Amino acid sequence: MESVSGSSQLNKTLRRHYLDLPQWGKCQVTYIWIDSSGEGLRNKTRTLDAEPQSIADIPEWSATGFNQKHSDLYLIPVWMFRDPFTMDPNKLVLCEVLKYDRVPAESNHRTSCKKVMEAAEEHCVWFGMEQEYTLLGMDGYPYCWPKNGFPRPQGPYHCGVGADNVYGRDIMECHYKACLYAGVKICGTNAETMPSQGSSVWEFQVGPCEGIAMADHLWVARFILHRVCEDFGVIATLDPKPMVGDWNGAGCHTNVSTKKMREEGGLQYIEQAIEKLSVRHEEHIRVYDPRGGEDNKRRLTGRHRTANINKFLSGVADRGASVRIPGQVGHDGCGYFEDRRPSANCDPYSVTEAIVRTCLLDAEA
Ligand code: ADP
Ligand code: MN
Ligand code: MN
Ligand code: MN
Ligand code: MN
Repeated sequence: MESVSGSSQLNKTLRRHYLDLPQWGKCQVTYIWIDSSGEGLRNKTRTLDAEPQSIADIPEWSATGFNQKHSDLYLIPVWMFRDPFTMDPNKLVLCEVLKYDRVPAESNHRTSCKKVMEAAEEHCVWFGMEQEYTLLGMDGYPYCWPKNGFPRPQGPYHCGVGADNVYGRDIMECHYKACLYAGVKICGTNAETMPSQGSSVWEFQVGPCEGIAMADHLWVARFILHRVCEDFGVIATLDPKPMVGDWNGAGCHTNVSTKKMREEGGLQYIEQAIEKLSVRHEEHIRVYDPRGGEDNKRRLTGRHRTANINKFLSGVADRGASVRIPGQVGHDGCGYFEDRRPSANCDPYSVTEAIVRTCLLDAEA
């Protein structure tokens, strides 16, 4: 059944008139939070009398959870961004979710991530995450894929250009600009290989960000992605393997460095960290997707530039490894390493927390 996106059908020129109206010093603040699925994002907006100057100026708010009893949740603002949709002075604010008794909600992995980042503060750990996503039409089928059969086999799509190679570049470009406007630390973007991907698969990179900032920025970048897609009437899915078949899956490669790794001779610290990761492989797989490793089973097959989910492999410049040392880093003798295992729909709080626990705190993942 064909369906249309209500929002994208509305007249955007008309919308411009209303968005240009003055708001007399008032400020619209959109609160964003991760819902109980641990994957979905929610949002709602309120008016503040003045533009907040920092996160401290934004009050807590509440939301309604699923439970009948004790359904009230607290929204605790943690990071403020500019709103690229209604623009200055309006804000997007990422929130943590607490339950009615002010204990972190089950889906709130930020509280424990923050503790771990604070415990490892001396290491000045930086992350960079590569978010892959697949564009789907409103029918749930990869955007612009032929309705009868499949696109040409995987081939000229990675970093591709041309109407027959890549589909949906507007989304990528608008998302990129919107992230820059908002203050999200996006550092690049490219078309992907996935054969949904006569590429309707794309990637953007966020980072390097220190500590907790990595996951905060990535979650807001995801919110902006879904919101841009809403305007255009397409869907972005972070499912690691949205189409069964001989196509690449979608991941969220996580690049990591400490101060020592970035300095001359840092390669030995990178190798130490990888050694520690190698003996905790199963524990990491359990937190690298929202379903305890089940999602990644569909993706980490040992084919399509992945290592098999049951094996830990590492190597320099090896894209078939679980953890890769980039070629340039091997050459320079310092820099960072890349954990290629996290799924596109991973919770970056859980992923970065596990890496720091294993590599720097010698604690359970
Ligand atoms: P790939 O070659 O794996 O596709 P990308 O260029 O897509 O790599 O992404 C590289 C990522 O590595 C970016 O997110 C970037 O922020 C991150 N990065 C670069 N330098 C560092 C560093 N020293 N520590 C951690 N992350 C880094
Ligand atoms: Mn209501
Ligand atoms: Mn990449
Ligand atoms: Mn990629
Ligand atoms: Mn990568």
